[in-house]
Order: sequence, then structure tokens, then C-alpha cells
Amino acid sequence: MVPWGALNHLYKGLATIVIALIALQYLFGSVLENRRTTDTAESLIAQYNRYRNHNISKPRFYQGAPISIEKTNNNSILISTILNYNKSQATNNNSSNLTQFNENPSAIPNCPIVSPDLEGPIQVNKTISKINELEAQFGSWLQPGGAYAPTNCVSQSVVAVIVPYRDRAENLLLFLAHMHPFLKKQQLDYAIYIIEQDGTGPFNRAMLMNVGFTEALKHRQYQCFIFHDVDLLPEDDRNLYNCPEQPRHMSVAVDIFKYRLPYQTLFGGVCALTRDQFISVNGFSNMFWGWGGEDDDMSNRVIYHNYHISRYPVNIARYTMLTHHKQKANPKRYETLVEGKKRYSQDGLNSLKYTLKQTKFNLLYTWVLVELHAPS
Ligand code: UDP
Ligand code: MN
Repeated sequence: MVPWGALNHLYKGLATIVIALIALQYLFGSVLENRRTTDTAESLIAQYNRYRNHNISKPRFYQGAPISIEKTNNNSILISTILNYNKSQATNNNSSNLTQFNENPSAIPNCPIVSPDLEGPIQVNKTISKINELEAQFGSWLQPGGAYAPTNCVSQSVVAVIVPYRDRAENLLLFLAHMHPFLKKQQLDYAIYIIEQDGTGPFNRAMLMNVGFTEALKHRQYQCFIFHDVDLLPEDDRNLYNCPEQPRHMSVAVDIFKYRLPYQTLFGGVCALTRDQFISVNGFSNMFWGWGGEDDDMSNRVIYHNYHISRYPVNIARYTMLTHHKQKANPKRYETLVEGKKRYSQDGLNSLKYTLKQTKFNLLYTWVLVELHAPS
């Protein structure tokens, strides 16, 4: 006689095991995922050393990003650890493993991931200098287009800083005065792009970012893009302007918000994405005219495409916001934002329309003047 009861038990047992295995894989997968975004400086250094010494799997360094900080608690300690690590390597005059991790065919060594020139908290000077004073001050080391690259080592980050701009002349002078020494100290290979919207129509910050991205890539194969409001000045040079594995929201702690992150998904102000990340989310939306919404739409795009927003901790990602007149808010911003998801694949880099009016390689910045066209 067939033992139907036993067979039934067997099936139930098998089903339970299958469900348990799926659950385990799910749990284990999320643990791994979590680990992936919380590598510590030490673990990356260890990974790297293993890679150097034994030629095993390549470490996940990307664009010189030393640590992915979100979700860790004592981040400041991690950062100072890696800073001290580099300093001790520098003083030992021992060619650091970290400085060598990219195969570099030239005689000049690669720069360390974290520059030995960093100071930590820095002053934000709000006295405005004239443009020719700044040119005289930085002229000995800047290249036309507001570009710089370290001379004694090969930078691990080739970065375009994209600034949307119109009619904020005083903010711009303070921005340039602050940012050039800041970026130089980080040993970045960078250029500053000021993308100016022509005309008096509603400002479109997001579209200017798309223009900046597109135009900068005509000049050079930048791998990392920092999208930067002109009125935000970083207060700590450990806030590295490179592109980590995940898109990074940089302006976490702004003085006017009492140095607190206003909400978790915020992606406005300053953010960093690799070229490939920016392309994969189809850039910013072109549909936000006037103030508001475009940064939240970008945040949604980033999350929708399975990225995580990474951030430095609040004691490092500190910014001063400069004063300016207020823009008129876009009354349709919520509507456009809510409908955003339907448009990610058609609204962005692939629907960008503009007329390039002028490109000028000034000493302090590459100036790109554009007339924006509403996408049809
Ligand atoms: N912006 C500009 N001119 C304008 C409006 C905006 O240059 O008339 C640029 C500038 O880079 C500014 C950013 O867009 O920092 C964000 O705009 P705004 O400062 O008005 O927005 P907030 O974030 O301060 O509300
Ligand atoms: Mn502002």
C-alpha cells in the first residue's frame, strides 16, 4: 500500500526546506549587500594589500574612493585612520601600496587615494576678491578652463565640477576663491565648468547639469562629475570630491539647516556621480523650470536604478551657504515629481535640447553659455 500520509509529509518537508533556502539566500544576500556598502578604510586597505601581495581578486577601489561611509557609526575615526595611514606612508618614504594600485605606465607615481595635504576643517572666507586678483593668486598653477592636475603624482580622480549659473556674480567669486585651493589640496585632476543659462526665462538647474555633463565630455573623458550649486562652500577638506562606488550626496550638513540633513532622500546642493552612473539614470530631468523638485527627481532616479545614496558624516560634509535672492518656486514641481518615474527613460540626457552660444576657457573656469529649449 502506498503510504500517502508519509508522502504528504515528505512533500511538506521538501517545500519547507525550499522556502527556508530561499529565505536564507535572501537574508544572506542582504547581509552581503550591506557589507558591500560599509567597507571600512582598514578592510579596503587589507583587500588592497592582499591584491598586491598575492594577486588575488582585484579590490573594489573606484575612482580613488577610499571608503563608503553610509551606515557606519564612527566614520570620523575611519577617515582619520586613512589620513594617518597615508601620512605615515609618506613620512616613511616607503612607496605605499595604496599609491601604486593603478598600473601607471609613466614614471610619475600615482597620487595616494587621500591626499597628504589635507587639513580637516577649513576657513570659509566671505570677503570678495576681484576676478583679476584671483587670477593673479592662482595663475601660477591653474590651466585655462579652471583646470589643475598635480605635478608630482598622477591623480586617481579625473573630475568635472559642474555649476549651474545665472546672475550670481558675488557667489561665483567666493566659490572660485574657495574651491580652487580646496580641490588642489585633494590632489584631484579637475576642471570647473560654469554653465550659464542665457535669457530671463525660468531657471532650469537640472537641465544645466545635463548640458555641463555633455559639454565637459566633449573636452575630456571625465570619469567623475560633481554637480555643485554655486552658493555652497565646503568647510572640511576631508570631504573628498571624487566618485565612490555609489552616488554620493555631498552637502549633508549645511549651516542654514543647522548642520543637519533635512531629510533622508535629499540629493540637492552638491552630489557626485560617475559618468556611467549619470548615463545609466539618463541624467537629470529636463522638465523642472523654476525652483524645486529636480533634485528629488534625481534622488528618485538614483534609487529607482538600484543605487544607494552614500554620504560622508555630518562632521565632515559641512557647508556654508552664501546668501542670494530667492528664486520663484515652480508651482508644478510636485506634479512633475510624482509623474517622474514614467519619464526616466525618455526625459533626461536623451531628450536634452539646447543651443550652445559660447564656450570660453577662462583661467578660473570653463564658461559655457547656453540657451535651453523645452523638450518637445
Ligand atoms: N542658480 C543661479 N541663478 C539663479 C538660480 C539658481 O545661478 O537665478 C543656481 C546656483 O548655482 C544656485 C543653484 O542654482 O546655487 C540652486 O538655486 P538656489 O540657490 O536658488 O536654490 P536653493 O537651493 O538655495 O533653494
Ligand atoms: Mn541656494
